[in-house]
Amino acid sequence: MKYCSTRGGVSGVSFKDAVIMGLAEDGGLLVPESLPDLTPFLPSWRSMSFTELAEAILAHFADDIPAADLHGLVERAYETFDIPEVVRLQEVGDTHVLELFHGPTLAFKDVALQLLGQIFDYVLAQRGEHLNILGATSGDTGSAAIAGVRGRDNIDIFILYPLGRVSALQELQMTTVADANVHCLAIEGSFDDCQNIVKTIFADLPFKHRYHLGAVNSVNWARVLAQIVYYAYASLRFDAPVNFCVPTGNFGNVFAGYLAKRLGFPIGKLIVATNENDILARFFATGEYARGDVRFTHTPAMDIQVASNFERYLYYYFGEDAAKVRRFMEDFGNHGRAALDGAPADGIVESTSVSNDDTAGAIGTVFAESGYVADPHTAVGLAAARRFAALQPMVCIATAEPAKFPEVVDAAVGREVATHPRLAALVGQPSRRSELPANVDAVKAFVSERVRA
Ligand SMILES: *Cc1c(COP(=O)(O)O)cnc(C)c1O
Repeated sequence: MKYCSTRGGVSGVSFKDAVIMGLAEDGGLLVPESLPDLTPFLPSWRSMSFTELAEAILAHFADDIPAADLHGLVERAYETFDIPEVVRLQEVGDTHVLELFHGPTLAFKDVALQLLGQIFDYVLAQRGEHLNILGATSGDTGSAAIAGVRGRDNIDIFILYPLGRVSALQELQMTTVADANVHCLAIEGSFDDCQNIVKTIFADLPFKHRYHLGAVNSVNWARVLAQIVYYAYASLRFDAPVNFCVPTGNFGNVFAGYLAKRLGFPIGKLIVATNENDILARFFATGEYARGDVRFTHTPAMDIQVASNFERYLYYYFGEDAAKVRRFMEDFGNHGRAALDGAPADGIVESTSVSNDDTAGAIGTVFAESGYVADPHTAVGLAAARRFAALQPMVCIATAEPAKFPEVVDAAVGREVATHPRLAALVGQPSRRSELPANVDAVKAFVSERVRA
């Protein structure tokens, strides 16, 4: 399997190179040169455990890693999870919830980043190389990425996050990690500022090559691939095609569901559930992709206007026509907006935007009805799913442990329900961070000073 860029300027890239490259060097995102049809395998995959299925799916996309090595990578990635089944599917009222937050940092990003950390380590050790990971986080990516690579000799990690705009616990999950290869940069700006700084630095190819920069943001193909597995796994637990409702920010999670469907897994519709930052909901309603101002909501991991994985969806929407993607993204880059001729009628994606009040309301209602405690991000999905009640069976993706957002959850439920011992233990521990202005040069200077000789 080889990979190419959504913008057409890069092709013939192996899986291992795609993972190390992160963003494609023409500014696009890496995607498989062609998608396999996995339907012939599905009958024999129905009885597999999560990790067995992960190995089976990965084998099709990472064919430059021998099966025995892949087995070791998957085993080590998921032995860090609190439950042996890795993800948990359960009934909640008349819907289903797929809990993806049983990893080390208690958010769904662990599913991908524990595996990505293993793959990085494996490839770098083979090549005798060192990688400097640069990433931006609106909260959960940072801690999950750090947990994936902390303490590794062949990796340094630099995580940018918006100062004062991630929760206290999310910040502690990053800044209390004492390993010397971990660098937390609190940026005086928004998450979009952080993401723009990272994108600008990656676009400076001489700098990228000189400092051997790698990406952990959801642009990294290995993250999408790891996320395909839970859609596949959940879809194989039902007798009829399953609909998924996905709380969405960067479109990374739901895009994996889209690919799972394209690969042949029995999936019906995908509901893209946004918070008040509704650029994606507006796009799916009208075909216009137009940047608005970022609003700060109960769901900080989704306070995003520019969804970095959206470009991969466009690529498939345009029938894998890279020239069309390039034109659309150039339009968007130049004008802050770009449009299709009308709403994208792909028959797969539905979308809706959930207000802050409806998010809190859903936490309270679901708890009152079924005793289930949902985090605010999960609640955006639960609220959205109620608007598509005719779509059955429905699986709502649960993206975070509620104790990561105790203020909102406890207020919505009316008493203290959101606690977790691993988070409680962070309070009062020594922490480290560096505050920097929202400025590309300041971040470049920081990276070049810290990079170990
Ligand atoms: C990252 C995150 C999301 C959004 O996922 P995307 O892949 O960016 O769409 C939703 N909920 C939580 C808790 C997250 O950490």
